[in-house]
Amino acid sequence: MKPAWSILPEEWKGELAARGLRPFRAEQVLHSLYRDMISGWDEATTLPKELREDMKREFPLTEATVLDRARSEDGTEKLLVGFADGASVETVLIPATGRFTQCISTQAGCAMRCAFCASGAKGLLRSLSADEIVAQHMICRRIGQITNLVVMGMGEPFANYDETMRALKLINAGKGPNLGARHITISTCGIVPGIERLATEGIQFELSVSLHAPNDELRSKIMPVNSRWPVGELMAACAAYTRKTKRAITFEYTLVSGFNDSREAAEELAALVKRVPLAKVNLIPLSPVDHRPDLKRPHEAQMLAFLDVLMKNGVQTMLRRSRGSDASAACGQLRLRSIAVS
Ligand code: SAH
Repeated sequence: MKPAWSILPEEWKGELAARGLRPFRAEQVLHSLYRDMISGWDEATTLPKELREDMKREFPLTEATVLDRARSEDGTEKLLVGFADGASVETVLIPATGRFTQCISTQAGCAMRCAFCASGAKGLLRSLSADEIVAQHMICRRIGQITNLVVMGMGEPFANYDETMRALKLINAGKGPNLGARHITISTCGIVPGIERLATEGIQFELSVSLHAPNDELRSKIMPVNSRWPVGELMAACAAYTRKTKRAITFEYTLVSGFNDSREAAEELAALVKRVPLAKVNLIPLSPVDHRPDLKRPHEAQMLAFLDVLMKNGVQTMLRRSRGSDASAACGQLRLRSIAVS
C-alpha cells in the first residue's frame, strides 16, 4: 500500500507493474488524479470498476478533511485541514489580481519557536508526509485554479526536507498539478544544510529566508535557530546559493516596534544583505500574537522610514501588507500589494 499522492508521475508505471496492475493505465490514473481531481477512487469513472477497487486497496487517497473554513472581508480564506490521526494544519488561499496563491503547511505545529510566530507556540506535533502536503494542495485546487504556492504555513520546510521536496516536485510535475517552479516559494527560518541542499536540486523554486534581525544579538532574542546557524554562517550559505544557482533570495524581515525597526537596524540590514548577490528584502508588519502581547507592530511612518533607508542603499525592498486578519489568517506573510518596489 502506498498513498497515491506520494507517487511522482514518472513512477506510476513502475508502481502499477509492481502490484500486478497494467502499466498502461498510468496515464488514465494521472488524468483522474490531477485533471479530474478526484477525491475518491469511486469518482475515477474512466477506470474499469475492478481496477478502482485495486486502486483503493493499493494506492489510497490520503484522508484530509476540511474541518473549518473562515473567510475574511478581503477575500482571503483560511482552511483547517484534518488528517486521519487527528493532526490538523492551516492552509490559506489568497486571491489577488491575476493570481490565486495558496499558503501551505509542511508540519503540524513547529519546533523552531520563533518568538512572534503562533505556529510554534505549542511546539511540534509532527511532520506531514508528502501525500498530506499534496492533499492540502488538491483540496484548494478543487476550490480554484491556484497560480502560486508559498510554503509559509505551519512548520519549517527544511526540518521536513524530503517529504516537502517530494510534494513540491509532484505539484510542479507536468503530468501532475503542473504548477511552475518559479511560482513555488519555499520559506525557511535559516536551516543552513537545507539551503545547501536546495542549491543542488537543479529546480528553480524560489527561496525566502526569514532573517528578522540584522545581527546575532537581536536575532538570537527572537529566533532560537540563530544559536545553531548564526547570521554570518547563514549569509555565507545564502551567498553561496545565489552564486551557484543564479537565483535571487528574498529576505523576510518582520518589523517589531522598538526592537528591530530603528534607522540603525535598517542601515545594518542593508549592509548585510548587500553581501549576497541578487538579494531582495520583504518587510512584513508584525501580526500581533496572543502569547507575546509585548511585541507590537510599528507605526506606519516608522515602517516607511525603514523602507526608505533600504531603498536609498539600493536594496530591492517591498513592504507587505498582511491580509486575512479578520479570518485570523494573517501572520504577516500574506502579500496584499507592494506599496513600494525599488
Ligand atoms: N518556517 C518557515 C515558514 C513559515 S513562516 C520560515 O520561518 O520562514 C512564514 C513567514 O511568516 C516567516 O517569515 C515568518 O517569520 C513570518 N511570520 C510568522 N509569524 C509572524 C507574525 N506574527 N507576524 C509577521 N510575520 C510572521
